[in-house]
Amino acid sequence: MSHIFPRHTKALPPVVARADGAYLYDTDGKAYLDGSGGAAVSCLGHGDSKVIGAMKAQLDQVAFAHTGFFTSEPAERLADRLVSLAPEGLDRVYVVAGGSEAMESALKLARQYYLEKGEPQRVNIIARRQSYHGNTLGALATGGNIWRREPFAPLLIDVHHVAPCYAYRGMAPGETEEQYGKRLAAEIEAEVQALGPETVMAFVAEPVVGATAGAVPAVPGYFKRIREICDRYGILLILDEVMCGMGRTGTLFACEQDGVAPDICAVAKGLGAGYAPIGAMLCSAEIYAAIETGSGFFQHGHTYLGHPTSCAGACAVLERLVDDQVLGRVAPMGALLRGALEERFGQRPYLGDIRGRGLFLGLELVAHRESKAPFDPGQGVAGKLKKAAFAEGLICYPMSGTIDGQRGDHVLLAPPFILTEDQVGELVDKLDRALTAVL
Ligand code: PLP
Repeated sequence: MSHIFPRHTKALPPVVARADGAYLYDTDGKAYLDGSGGAAVSCLGHGDSKVIGAMKAQLDQVAFAHTGFFTSEPAERLADRLVSLAPEGLDRVYVVAGGSEAMESALKLARQYYLEKGEPQRVNIIARRQSYHGNTLGALATGGNIWRREPFAPLLIDVHHVAPCYAYRGMAPGETEEQYGKRLAAEIEAEVQALGPETVMAFVAEPVVGATAGAVPAVPGYFKRIREICDRYGILLILDEVMCGMGRTGTLFACEQDGVAPDICAVAKGLGAGYAPIGAMLCSAEIYAAIETGSGFFQHGHTYLGHPTSCAGACAVLERLVDDQVLGRVAPMGALLRGALEERFGQRPYLGDIRGRGLFLGLELVAHRESKAPFDPGQGVAGKLKKAAFAEGLICYPMSGTIDGQRGDHVLLAPPFILTEDQVGELVDKLDRALTAVL
């Protein structure tokens, strides 16, 4: 018996033995097509020799040096590269070890920024009910996923949650996308007014909502309106690109497609592509200047800040994505996968919606197409689908969400960008067999 503390104590997973390209293999030799990159992590697939080589070389040179004593060449190179590729205005990079850390850092930086600026009354965070921003307490409090929050609710800070931009369920009959986006923006502005604009610190959102909802992008113009509201009241816009960033939607940063730049941006997952536990928080020159010319010390840190080996890996990931143009595969392969999903499942009675951007796609599963009625929670559709797909040799990411009191089952797909045409077919076939077994 192993002494490992598994996350699911009653359903132990198989032991992974090796991985290569788009596949993982267990110790019995069974192959699993990585249709969700784990949880939207493995953008380059497995066994990328450039990333592995860069990390090995760094391990030989200096594996780790604490940022209390040193900076390092790979950390500085990563920061420079990220800024050169980031939306206009993002100027400084704080390198952490994962997505929750990046979001926790973002929230604390926002707070410290206003303290340094002499606006200590700015404490309110507005976020959306359909969101996940990480599992540490600050990030968990910011997210709106009821199931994840519930057990820890007494420990969570107050965050003000507003309606998500969720066209499939949120758009009123006869409403255009533009009217819908305007209505949501007006709700957010009303929330700012109700709280008192001078008390609001940040608006936090995922440009394309991931785990909670299954790849839900906003309607055109929504984020531009939010940016305007934030500017009008001096509120920081924090975008969480932990899941949708690093090329997943076809552009390196998802918000590029919404035509907005945040004041603070969190990335992780694809930044390390599974080779290194790493995340980053990017912030504007103005925010950095407030700290630099103020206390001169960001009062927040973790032991593995700017980890040199992880940074060397992330630099190589960016080289693969940008210089080797792996990123260029996302839009065409995403269109191919989406087309194949629409063709295969588009008319199925359980298919409510197919959505997403690039290789970040979601299928919403419903009991009735016309009424959009969700499945009875007792049916446990998402859990059964995960199991059935895994039995078929497919890793995908089904989830149940509760959004504004409505329950929804969806499956998220986020395969590696190196996916081939044949593998698109294999993914759809395996998903089809799994869905047929469950529904
Ligand atoms: N933010 C988003 C949008 C995520 O999807 C996740 C993880 O799924 C996180 C934050 C937390 O990242 P991590 O699991 O690396 O802590």
